[in-house]
Amino acid sequence: SLTQRLTKVVKTIRGQARLTESNMQDMLREIRIALLEADVAIPVVKDLIARIKEKALGTEVQTSLTPGQALVGIVHDELTKVIGGEDPENVREINLATQPPAIILLAGLQGAGKTTTAGKLGKWLKEEKKKKVLTVSADVYRPAAIDQLQTVSQQANIDFFPSTPNEKPLDIARKALEYAKLHYYDVLIVDTAGRLAIDEQMMNEVSDLEKFLNPIETFFVVDAMVGQDAVNTAKAFGEKLPLTGVILTKVDGDSRGGAALSVRMVTGKPIKFMGVGEKLNGFQRFDPQAMAGRILGMGDIVSLVDEVRKNVDIEKAQKFAEKMRKGDDFTLEDFKDQLAQVKNMGSFSSLIEKLPAQFAQAAGQVDDEQAKKQLARTEAIIDSMTPHERRKPEIIKASRKRRIAAGAGTTVQEVNRLLKQFEQSREMMKMMKKGGMGKMMRAFRS
Ligand code: GDP
Ligand code: MG
Repeated sequence: SLTQRLTKVVKTIRGQARLTESNMQDMLREIRIALLEADVAIPVVKDLIARIKEKALGTEVQTSLTPGQALVGIVHDELTKVIGGEDPENVREINLATQPPAIILLAGLQGAGKTTTAGKLGKWLKEEKKKKVLTVSADVYRPAAIDQLQTVSQQANIDFFPSTPNEKPLDIARKALEYAKLHYYDVLIVDTAGRLAIDEQMMNEVSDLEKFLNPIETFFVVDAMVGQDAVNTAKAFGEKLPLTGVILTKVDGDSRGGAALSVRMVTGKPIKFMGVGEKLNGFQRFDPQAMAGRILGMGDIVSLVDEVRKNVDIEKAQKFAEKMRKGDDFTLEDFKDQLAQVKNMGSFSSLIEKLPAQFAQAAGQVDDEQAKKQLARTEAIIDSMTPHERRKPEIIKASRKRRIAAGAGTTVQEVNRLLKQFEQSREMMKMMKKGGMGKMMRAFRS
């Protein structure tokens, strides 16, 4: 990663108090390579390097930092800035301020993720903004494309306006708009056809749709994995359409996020959302700071810490720490509280994604559904016990185990597994009583 690269170079210039043309040269070369490896387009890299150099020249290196750390800080800041980090938050807000239905047009190459995004965005608008959403497909080239939008709309629990490959895109748009007005939809999402590469006909078609519909949002949907190509595609779409924003998809993949830099610089439009998975809940607001961290290869530690802090019930955690300190016994009630907190942290895979790449790889793939089911089963088992049993699980006999298993809709083996797991946690707690836990809790509070 860039951080590792710099650490290596930095050794040679340690002890110098100022970043200069000559001591920065090696570092800038490393940054250039790292940016290229992160799939940032060449012209964008050049521009960035120039900015970084200008910013860094003559910078006094604080005594607490090495020159390399100082430079990484500057690179991080510049990256964040370039992808919109200095824009006010509302620039990335979705704009629906118009006479309903607010029309959202999705444009981009084939396979960019438009149809998936139509479902994700629709679900998000319904759940987060309480909007009544209709989708329609103007992709008349592949019959399967229309079916696909119908499927994702159903999954997203939003309405779908049927179309057929025999119709003209403009006719489809007209009919869908009429229907949306008649039935008081807040939002109409229009999915369009894409080609594998830019072509005149496709561009004209989507441009005609834009002129006819006059959408409040025209999003360029782009695959974060395309890397260097992002510049050309973004340029072509940006010239043909009055884009209002960008949606970056497949940010969950191997991509290092370089496309984000390129697209933002070329279009000058805010990246508003990002797709982070094939499933419909893999959709988030775009966070420039986090993306800059990803490009730098540092992982999104900051936001991981925030997330944990936000979701752990601080009061309960403190009470628990207190209890540990006083030397009370760890019970299944505490165990259940802890599970509930884990559940509150949301999707496991999204938490793991925020870890630096090395850790995330070690953690491997987490199946959210599996993990949630497991948690629910464990809770059901604990709920089927009497309060006395929760405090003193060792009194649970075979006949009670069978009753508990039946009550929780599971097997005696599962009950045994849970009791064993609990016993191990209790052992661990005993060891942590010596102060380790208190320290952890203080970290959460700070
Ligand atoms: P379209 O041709 O632009 O409509 O693209 P699709 O919506 O059909 O998506 C193309 C492929 O990319 C499908 O296999 C999707 O499941 C996948 N895809 C879309 N968005 C994401 C994403 O955010 N992450 C991942 N991993 N896959 C995605
Ligand atoms: Mg499609």
